[in-house]
Amino acid sequence: MSHIFPRHCHATPPTASHGEGCFLIDTDGKRYFDGSGGAAVSCLGHSNDRVRRAIKDQVDQLAFAHTGFFTSDPAEQLADLLIANAPGDLDRVYLVSGGSEATESAIKLARQYFTERGEPQRRHLIARRQSYHGNTLGALSAGGNAWRRAQFAPLLIEVSHIAPCYDYMGRAEGESPEAYGQRAAQELEDEILRLGPDTVMAFMAEPVVGATMGAVPAAPGYFNRIREICDRYGVLLILDEVMCGMGRTGHLFACEAETVVPDILCIAKGLGAGYQPIGAMLCTRAIYDTIAGGTGFFQHGHTYLGHPVAAAAGLAVLRELLDNDLVAQVRARGAYLEQRLHERFAQHPHVGDIRGRGLFWGMEFVADRDSKTPFDPRLGLAGRLKKAAFAEGLICYPMSGTRDGQLGDHVLLAPPFIATEAELDGAIDTLSRALDKVMADLPT
Ligand code: PMP
Repeated sequence: MSHIFPRHCHATPPTASHGEGCFLIDTDGKRYFDGSGGAAVSCLGHSNDRVRRAIKDQVDQLAFAHTGFFTSDPAEQLADLLIANAPGDLDRVYLVSGGSEATESAIKLARQYFTERGEPQRRHLIARRQSYHGNTLGALSAGGNAWRRAQFAPLLIEVSHIAPCYDYMGRAEGESPEAYGQRAAQELEDEILRLGPDTVMAFMAEPVVGATMGAVPAAPGYFNRIREICDRYGVLLILDEVMCGMGRTGHLFACEAETVVPDILCIAKGLGAGYQPIGAMLCTRAIYDTIAGGTGFFQHGHTYLGHPVAAAAGLAVLRELLDNDLVAQVRARGAYLEQRLHERFAQHPHVGDIRGRGLFWGMEFVADRDSKTPFDPRLGLAGRLKKAAFAEGLICYPMSGTRDGQLGDHVLLAPPFIATEAELDGAIDTLSRALDKVMADLPT
């Protein structure tokens, strides 16, 4: 009997044995193409030499030095390289161990920034429905995913949720994408005015929504308008690129495509690429200087901040992305994946929408395409698809209506950046077969 506390108490997953390129292999020798990089994590596949070597060398050199006493070369170099490539005036990096720690740190930094400025009444966070910002209680409070929140309500911090910018379900008939983007962004201004502008500290959103909606980019101009509104009311803009950052969308940082620079930016998954648990929060010099000129320290911290081995892995990943121009490769392979997804699924009677950017693609399934009626959540359609694809050796990331009354059924594809066209073709064939099987087996 296993003593692991599993993700699902009544499911016994296969045991992963090792990784080779874009594949994971279990202890029975079965091979799985990692079509979602786990959860948009494994951007370099599972056997990158440079990253593995960097980790081994770093363990030999220095395994750990607490940041209460020391900094370390890999942490310094990683921060330098991130800032050299980050947009706008992002200037400081806070290295943590994952996505939730990054978003949690961002919320606390925003709060401390305003208390240091003598505006302690600014404590309200605005985020979006159907969003996910992590599972620790602060991050969960920020998220707008009803299913994840339900067991833990009431949550910790004062958060209100506006609508996401969700073209497929949100844009009205005849409305242009640009007009829709302005309308969706207007909800932020309305909410700030409703709450009272001097009570709001920050707005948090993912540039391309991943975990809860399946790779949904915003309408053109949406984030420009959001930036204007934040500036008008002195509200900080926190962008959560935990899933969509680090090249995934065809830009090193997803916000580059929106031509906006946030005040605080969170990254994680692709930064460690699965080789080490690491995340980061980047902030502007203005925020840093406020803290530095006030209390003099960020009232936060974790034992593993700036962990040297995790930082060495992150540094090797980032160098690998930059030296090999993998972001350009993401754009090229992403265009191929987009084309193949459209060829194979655009006419499918139950595929309502195919959307994404770079190597970050989502498909949304509906019972009826004309009315966009979702499947009955009790069917758990996306979960069935995950299972059927996995049985055929394809890892894809499902989001099923059964998990949250707000959501429909989506599947997310986020393959490693090194995936070949032939491997992507194979994944599409498998997904198509799995979808046919799921549809054929649905109870009538
Ligand atoms: N933010 C976003 C957008 C995410 O997708 C995730 C993870 N799915 C998180 C935060 C939390 O990251 P972690 O699981 O590493 O804590």
